[in-house]
Amino acid sequence: MPTNVQVPVRTVASVNPASGEVLRELACAGEEEVHAAVVRSRAVQAQWCEVGPRKRVEILREFQRLLCEKKSDVARLITREAGKPYVEALLTEVMVVLDAARFLIDNAYGLLRDEPVDHGNLAMKTKVGRIVREPYGVIGIISPWNYPFSIPATEAVAALVAGNAVVLKPSEFTSLVAFELASLLHAAGVPKDVFQVIPGDGATGAALIGSDIDKLIFTGSVATGKWIAQAAAARLLPVVLELGGKDPMIVLDDADAEVASSGAVWGAFVNAGQACLSVERCYVHRSLYDAFVAACARKAKQLRVGDGLNPEIEVGPLIHERQLRNVEAHVEEAVSRGARVLTGGTRLPDLGVDFYAPTVLADVNHETRIMREETFGPVLPIMRVRDVGEAIAYANDSPYGLNANVWTRNRRRGVQLAKEIQSGCAVVNDCMITYGITESPFGGVKQSGIGRVNGEQGLLGMCHTKSIVIDRVGSRSELLWFPHSARKASWVKRALRVIWGTSLGRWLA
Ligand code: NAD
Repeated sequence: MPTNVQVPVRTVASVNPASGEVLRELACAGEEEVHAAVVRSRAVQAQWCEVGPRKRVEILREFQRLLCEKKSDVARLITREAGKPYVEALLTEVMVVLDAARFLIDNAYGLLRDEPVDHGNLAMKTKVGRIVREPYGVIGIISPWNYPFSIPATEAVAALVAGNAVVLKPSEFTSLVAFELASLLHAAGVPKDVFQVIPGDGATGAALIGSDIDKLIFTGSVATGKWIAQAAAARLLPVVLELGGKDPMIVLDDADAEVASSGAVWGAFVNAGQACLSVERCYVHRSLYDAFVAACARKAKQLRVGDGLNPEIEVGPLIHERQLRNVEAHVEEAVSRGARVLTGGTRLPDLGVDFYAPTVLADVNHETRIMREETFGPVLPIMRVRDVGEAIAYANDSPYGLNANVWTRNRRRGVQLAKEIQSGCAVVNDCMITYGITESPFGGVKQSGIGRVNGEQGLLGMCHTKSIVIDRVGSRSELLWFPHSARKASWVKRALRVIWGTSLGRWLA
């Protein structure tokens, strides 16, 4: 009989997508390890809660200070592991987290404080109410690779300052950035078991959902999100789902084509197009179309592509070859159905295996995959539209609804159209920026997700809202209590008629 059976250990590799260099290989946390981590977090959470919001805010301030001090190291690590250009890592990862910390430092105490509640119901005037925010307990976070620092960090700091413990399962592609986040939080004073990172793949994430966590914040693709929604529903686990997008950009007849084209090129090629909020499809009024597509092609050609560690680089590699094949398939199909390639449309093997040229496509057919499915790559597909109505109809003809952007010189018209687009967020005369504005609640409608992160809603989403009602009179009998009688019934009827059946009563109420 064999005595020591070898259980195969799953591993994940952290690889620099610009060079192919393996940065580190890690064993995936198995089910037992995940459960043990959650047990450890639960054991210390109550103590962390007792520390109180003022002290937790002080720890957050120290985290902010340390992050600011180590900003270059953190940004370089993000570039090495996720491929995004260094300047972009500073702006869209480090700066976003510094600002999220600023918001919580300024507001967490006030937002988490008990809140008195006035009772309007005359029958309840002898009671006073209070709303209390209680942390969920242990919050699980499952995060993607495309914003490997800002997404888990902004969610984690909100959860922590509210008094929760956090167990983070980062993307299998970006574990090292998650460890860096842990080391900054621990150095700032967050106890080790209050914030833990469990490296691993989808199975590790599934184990986290099956563990004893009290809430899950998931960010990732719609496909994984649907699976997670089912698994969470089976155990009534509250979840926030931040899923994919297919964000439309609409350029109206009164827009500045030069400005809008610069916005489109940034919005489509930032993070090599691997952003949930990136400009994934563009609808341009026919009066501006030719000038707009020519400007986009010219500006896309000028982008500097390469290893993002060089601060001059504007577009880095894709995260892995599978992602690149998805982009290629979308472009090929679009071209086979009439799209014109104005620039790009090819791999850049001289730079490395995961590089794809910034690509501008004109005259794209709305029925192609590139206009319907998330492409998640450096491609800007553009369509000509007759009028605003057609643009809005195309924008809304999508199962996604994350972000959207409208370009017009008339801001009032822009806001009106932003309201007509089915999306969780919208921007007028810029794009992408919603996530970076801490005060702005972020999330999607339709298949782009459930719930919101960031700002006040994001912080309060890390807590149960408990209502406490206190009687302040102590009378021997209450209107609602027994006994009931015919006399009481007629008295109540008269009282209801006076209060809700007359304008004086309604005014008094
Ligand atoms: P993904 O869905 O493949 O993976 C996301 C995370 O889920 C990873 O940590 C992964 O290991 C884990 N996972 C995979 N299968 C799982 C399972 N069965 N159970 C539990 N966890 C599982 O997504 P990705 O490729 O890492 O990220 C890209 C996607 O994320 C895109 O669709 C993008 O639009 C979306 N995204 C959305 C937002 C947003 O805020 N709405 C932000 C960034 C990215």
